[in-house]
Amino acid sequence: MTRKTNVSGEKPDTDRFLMCPPNHFGVNYVINPWMEGNIGRVNRREAVSQWNNLRYLLSSVANIEMATPAPGLPDMVFTANAGLALDNEVVVSRFSTIERQPEEALFRRWFESSGYMIHHAPEELHFEGGGDALLDFDGRWIWAAYGSRTSLESHPYLATIFNIEVISVRLVDPRFYHLDTCFLPLPDGYVMYYPDALDTYSNRVIQSRVSLQKRITINIDDALLFAANAVVTGDTIIMNKCSARLAEKLRSIGLTVAQTELSEFIKAGGSAKCLTLKLNQKAPENRNAISSVSRRRVVAEGQLIDSQLMSRICDSIVNGGGSFQVTKMQLGQRRNELSSAQLDVSAPDNDTLDILIQKIIRLGAAAPSGETENAALEKVTQDGVAPGNFYSTTIYATQVRVNGDWIDVADQRMDGVVVVSGGAARCSLLRDLKKGDMVVTGGEGIRTMRAPARYGDHEQFGFMASSISSERRVEIAVDKIAWEMNRIHARGGRFVVVAGPVVVHTGATPYLAKMVRNGYINALLGGNAIAVHDIELALFGTSLGVNLKNGKSVEGGHRNHIAAINSVRKAGSIKGAVESGVVTSGLFYELVKNGIPFSLAGSIRDDGPLPETRMDLIEAQEEYASLIKGADMILMLSSMLHSIGAGNMTPAGARLVCVDINPAVITKLTDRGSLESVGVVTDVGLFLSMLAGKLNLDVA
Ligand code: NAD
Repeated sequence: MTRKTNVSGEKPDTDRFLMCPPNHFGVNYVINPWMEGNIGRVNRREAVSQWNNLRYLLSSVANIEMATPAPGLPDMVFTANAGLALDNEVVVSRFSTIERQPEEALFRRWFESSGYMIHHAPEELHFEGGGDALLDFDGRWIWAAYGSRTSLESHPYLATIFNIEVISVRLVDPRFYHLDTCFLPLPDGYVMYYPDALDTYSNRVIQSRVSLQKRITINIDDALLFAANAVVTGDTIIMNKCSARLAEKLRSIGLTVAQTELSEFIKAGGSAKCLTLKLNQKAPENRNAISSVSRRRVVAEGQLIDSQLMSRICDSIVNGGGSFQVTKMQLGQRRNELSSAQLDVSAPDNDTLDILIQKIIRLGAAAPSGETENAALEKVTQDGVAPGNFYSTTIYATQVRVNGDWIDVADQRMDGVVVVSGGAARCSLLRDLKKGDMVVTGGEGIRTMRAPARYGDHEQFGFMASSISSERRVEIAVDKIAWEMNRIHARGGRFVVVAGPVVVHTGATPYLAKMVRNGYINALLGGNAIAVHDIELALFGTSLGVNLKNGKSVEGGHRNHIAAINSVRKAGSIKGAVESGVVTSGLFYELVKNGIPFSLAGSIRDDGPLPETRMDLIEAQEEYASLIKGADMILMLSSMLHSIGAGNMTPAGARLVCVDINPAVITKLTDRGSLESVGVVTDVGLFLSMLAGKLNLDVA
């Protein structure tokens, strides 16, 4: 490659730009959304003419140097991605797409022959040069992007090489795949950018660095015209196009706006800025290497592939604004063998990293043994309020590291915080926190146990995996649930049933009553309605005024459920109504007669309520939690409200069986990260009649 300088004659004190003629330009492959549908559609003659116009405009205000185009490298015309040049040093690009990787050697040679000191980013990182790293106009810092082509991990490297502050921002719209497609530093501290191309964190970072008056935010129309992909030199800004309003705004801050058609290059996803690289960038002498990018190592072990844990961990990191490199991966060779992975997780700052690490700890990742710190503890300063960076718990057994020892967290439940006191740790709800409690915060010294291989046999495991049975498979599912219930029953295990009033409407209470009599229900959780409707049925043969025997509405029947409530209130309680002989049949009759505890949690739509219905929801939650304790299986029968409530307080280990006619409800209930749940989409009446049959309970 030869270096041809000054196509338009030397202009002292003006900027120098690198361009590359479009001899081999075209859309030959698709590596960004702009290229989609444009393969072979570039009008070469038009492209050459557009490129010449840009060169002509730029050469009237700056010096241009040329790279030699190479056949088979259509994107070499986009010299912005050659590298990042600052103070006669350059970090040459490491392209993320294989299509552009051959450009690296050619651009490196160009920089070498032009006398630049060459730096290479570490091999495992991607860095796409001036496309993703933009020097502040006054050289105070570099705005650097990640999330699309360039690795976040390259930012601290840039900071060290150029001894400068690097501010990390994340690209989130694939159409704006390089920072220079949506963000442009301007003279006098202005920046012009399209905010929606960047995540919320990055927008906050920009706002913290650039005052409102200096932020020129552009709309989607200007962004799609590549208005931000402009070359700025002196007081001239050269771009494809922009709205009259934006042009006016730019003029108002002292810029001369030059627009030149670059539509052929936009077919490949680039415009004026992409077609040029500023070669003479300078930064002030007195500067320091600063990057807030933080990194931590984690390991994950288990059925990483089968259970999609690995992909969930990776998604969690990326969606949370972080980045990762898998530094070790060992796959289990056989079905039952566990896999392990070691990942280096990076985030743009330490607080974001803490949140990310917390998320993946909840998925089962942990710091490598030997590299673990104690869990960070922060004091509660206000009753019922946790410190900002608290760790929020999952259903999985958890340990925290205190004074060098891993200790078990007691009372495991979802959405709690971990309180450490006197060498012990427990889950606590926010509302139970007291001033002075020490709460686990941050992401260090916490690990969760996901016990993935409890079921050695794959078929059994498959059954217990969170899969939703279709109608056709209901019978098979019921068969397996009954088998499991019989085993739990035989070893004296504990069953908890959460049920909604649909159980009564579908005529299924006799099956539940039979299960009570035969020891398959050890506690029942529900709302006011299930008890009201069951007792209405017992007293009047109707449920919400409908005769369940013939399915017909009874004249004036609607009054029945209020009358049922009235009768119970008169007796003082459900128990009282049963014991005084007012209620002589039904589910609640059986519960009382068999001494099975129940808890009724109130809601705003409750009529009455019945005396036992707990309208104080904190008391109701506590009663639910105490009845759930030690459950081996929880049957959640057609009550979204109470099932979700119960699910949140259930630790991993209890088998969840969720029955609902609505698949979306099943998904919500079973998607708690629990491997031990099964969802059955069916009519609850049908389900219970089949279950009673499979359990060999003869229902009179
Ligand atoms: P919910 O919406 O939480 O749950 C009802 C669930 O049953 C839904 O998910 C629905 O998809 C499912 N379902 C409906 N028909 C079904 C069928 N045939 N088979 C299987 N699933 C079926 O409502 P909820 O639990 O019924 O009630 C919410 C709250 O309102 C509760 O606290 C309840 O006690 C109260 N409530 C009170 C009264 C009253 O006091 N009279 C009456 C109704 C509800």
